Amino acid sequence: MKVYDAVVLGLGTMGSASALELSRRQAAVIGFDHLRPPHGVGSHGGGTRVFRAGYAESPAYVPLVHRASDLWERLSQEFGTKLLTRSGLLTMGLESSAALCGIQHCADLRLMQIDRLSAEEIQYRFPAFQVPDDFVGLLETTAGWLDVDAAILGMQKRASELGAELCLDEGVTGWDMRPGEVVVRTARRKVHARRLVITAGPWTTQIMRDLSIPIRIVRKTFVWFDPLLPAEFAEGAIPIFGFPPNSFYGFPNIRGEGVKVAEHLGGEEIARPEEAWPAAEQDHASILETVARFLPGLARQPLADSQRIIKSATCLYSMTPDEHFLLDVHPKQSSIVFAAGFSGHGFKFAPLIGEVMADLALEGETQHPIDFLRWKEARRPIKADYS
Ligand SMILES: Cc1cc2nc3c(=O)[nH]c(=O)nc-3n(C[C@H](O)[C@H](O)[C@H](O)COP(=O)(O)OP(=O)(O)OC[C@H]3O[C@@H](n4cnc5c(N)ncnc54)[C@H](O)[C@@H]3O)c2cc1C
Repeated sequence: MKVYDAVVLGLGTMGSASALELSRRQAAVIGFDHLRPPHGVGSHGGGTRVFRAGYAESPAYVPLVHRASDLWERLSQEFGTKLLTRSGLLTMGLESSAALCGIQHCADLRLMQIDRLSAEEIQYRFPAFQVPDDFVGLLETTAGWLDVDAAILGMQKRASELGAELCLDEGVTGWDMRPGEVVVRTARRKVHARRLVITAGPWTTQIMRDLSIPIRIVRKTFVWFDPLLPAEFAEGAIPIFGFPPNSFYGFPNIRGEGVKVAEHLGGEEIARPEEAWPAAEQDHASILETVARFLPGLARQPLADSQRIIKSATCLYSMTPDEHFLLDVHPKQSSIVFAAGFSGHGFKFAPLIGEVMADLALEGETQHPIDFLRWKEARRPIKADYS
């Protein structure tokens, strides 16, 4: 009977990265996903993700971002595909706003570099953005966007080449703990392993019921626009951008597929991923308002013209109470390690999370500075103090 070193439950963002890192370390790995990632019903839909080091959420993430940055570059070389495009990220708003103070704080700690732009400089360099005179912009030039589908497919492909057995369209239905091993069940088989790595995204709470993980699932909407003034929004013409209302953000017109915009705040809480419903017109209202106010070249004024919307889609956040991730060995079952609660900002860390999961699964410990993301610590809010 084969005993694997690790079973990975969920082969989306963090599971693909974990399977790859485990197989790099020559562990015998088998992974399962009840769907076929990349897909649009979990937390990685929508094609692109922001990569940034300006971490208003807490400067403790910045060293982790730097490691992830090196790993994304290495993966790009290995896969022969550009996964991270450093288009820059311009966050605009009042200088006193929490977002700008938080980014400035990371720069003051010399953790990253930013350029400060006045409202006039913003308008001159990027006519796409219409900003009030009292706004400033913080430009992180090494930030950029990640190609989600290429990253997930590439990590799965490389993990398979290194010997991982990845089983798609095959969900894990349960497991039994035995001394020193875990027996994982699917509808088709039982597999024995030393460790179970749970990376089930918004399905985590229903899978790890014993821990009562306090994750809220929030349905979010992306909207893609065909810009009224295409030159202003072309790739290379603008960085990724952010404005204050509901932490609105958007991307340039990547590959001419449309200008994708969304709001980090808001959305509807749902009990289970299966309850999410497709994006509809009412999801566009506040996005259209912000577009009309700050992005006149995207859709017609005064009320942004919904005719310019190409498509919209939903995606699920897994929110912890303090919005920090949960990475740890299961407090009661040392054969289980888990990565969950990415609270809408986890994708950029995927290869680093792969390393952490491989460390915890194979060594029981990690050298990465993740104590603030552990099971107990993560319950306590660690909001930074910018006073
Ligand atoms: C709207 C939106 C915008 C975001 N923007 C950013 C951003 O700009 N930058 C950033 O860094 N992050 C961002 N994120 C966050 C990031 O995308 C997520 O943190 C990340 O994708 C989470 O990965 P995951 O592996 O936890 O979940 P997923 O990628 O969803 O993977 C979980 C997998 O588990 C599988 N699964 C579930 N149950 C089972 C089972 N029983 N058996 C087998 N498989 C199972 C699912 O099918 C799924 O494939 C955003 C997220 C959303 C929703």
